[in-house]
Amino acid sequence: MNDGKPKEACGVVAVYAPGQEVAKTIYYALYALQHRGEESAGIAVSEGDTMVVFKDMGLVGQVFDEYRLKSLTGGLGIGHVRYSTTGSSSWENAQPIHRDSGTLEVALGHNGNLVNTMDLLSKLAPRRRAASTDSDLIAEMIVNSGKPTVEEGILDTLPRLKGAFTLVMMDHERVYGCRDPHGLRPLVIGSLSSGGYVMASETCALDAIGAVLVREVEPGELVTIDAQGIHSHRFAAATPALCVFEYVYFARADSVLYGKSVHKTRYQMGRRLWEESPAVADLVMPVPDSGRGAAAGYAAASGIPYGDALFRSPYVGRTFIQPTQAIRQQGIRTKLNPMAQMIEGKTLVVVDDSIVRGNSMRQIVRMLRDAGAKGVHVRVSSPPVQWPCFYGIDIASRDELIAANTSVDEIRQHIEADSLGYLSLEGMLASTELASDKFCTACFSSEYPIAIPDDVKVTKNMLEAQI
Ligand code: SF4
Ligand code: MG
Repeated sequence: MNDGKPKEACGVVAVYAPGQEVAKTIYYALYALQHRGEESAGIAVSEGDTMVVFKDMGLVGQVFDEYRLKSLTGGLGIGHVRYSTTGSSSWENAQPIHRDSGTLEVALGHNGNLVNTMDLLSKLAPRRRAASTDSDLIAEMIVNSGKPTVEEGILDTLPRLKGAFTLVMMDHERVYGCRDPHGLRPLVIGSLSSGGYVMASETCALDAIGAVLVREVEPGELVTIDAQGIHSHRFAAATPALCVFEYVYFARADSVLYGKSVHKTRYQMGRRLWEESPAVADLVMPVPDSGRGAAAGYAAASGIPYGDALFRSPYVGRTFIQPTQAIRQQGIRTKLNPMAQMIEGKTLVVVDDSIVRGNSMRQIVRMLRDAGAKGVHVRVSSPPVQWPCFYGIDIASRDELIAANTSVDEIRQHIEADSLGYLSLEGMLASTELASDKFCTACFSSEYPIAIPDDVKVTKNMLEAQI
């Protein structure tokens, strides 16, 4: 079931380690990035003249097994986990994307969303396309660039893209990684203890494969890794605007962004949330798992005991088995179960990282009251989400956002809480302890770092409508 959270666009990995079987390394790195995309998973590897891609719908552990990984031989490769942000959820749209023009061959994985897709499409020679995404267009542009090498094709293409694009790419000799000039989505470089290098969306993927963080890929930078090591090309000036939602919710708690621990930042958000919006209560509890850091901070600052009173099933991922009507009526209970003995007779502060549509929070509040809670105060460690995201997060339209047309008190009534408090924009940004102009905050503030053309403000499947 959809728990009402915005879906992250994707997670990406690239590994360069000649002489090693990189498919397994990529597999474990993708496992660590599973939270960034649960719809499809894929790996591309190269060995000399051949490039092999395997991708399918499902979780990393469902798509790959020992046998499949053994068939993916090669010393360099890329990997991808995906949610659909543009294009529908189908096998053709799974990544890595592979394109071969006869002269240039590339595999590519994309995290983000372009905002000038229609413009780029109109400039591309008409041809039959097998997929329907902005990511696909990037691969087309690279192999049809008329340049003699993939690297030159990439450098020709990147300055023409507008929007969010963290990309990993490969040819037969090199892997590549880049971030758009705003660096909306993260990408880091690590070194492998066995020799070679890795690039990945988050540092938690480096930890999972025993790699050591070298540095972040800079906004507007293309990094090439080959036999000579790491090479840096700047294709645009950097105007950093990292998605602040990475700290709030998307990134894994054990990752480090801009040199700051994601967990510690969430803890700080919780402390500030208490200062801005205190409550009298017996227990502070998170909505697991993403509310945990902020709940711990709220409890520490308030002196109210902390308790994990909602159990989250670790095994509920995206399932392709439709629930029966009876199970569906159980709603959020397939995922979260309240522990009545911790809740009965108590006044609770329930901390979550964000409220997007509001329906899951209403179910949680009801569930806690049914379990015997005397009072339920809801606290949210980010501001009201009022604006859609055009940079790869599936907050498609303002109609879907409860805070877009509703006051905080009306939301409180809707979720049936005794009180409701959000962290302010200033409080959220101050919790990062970084300059506030280094972030995109558009879904909270409507200040979009990249102008949004009118034709983008339509449906998310716009490319499919064209084909
Ligand atoms: Fe992140 Fe919101 Fe900006 Fe989208 S609009 S990139 S979710 S901060
Ligand atoms: Mg996309």
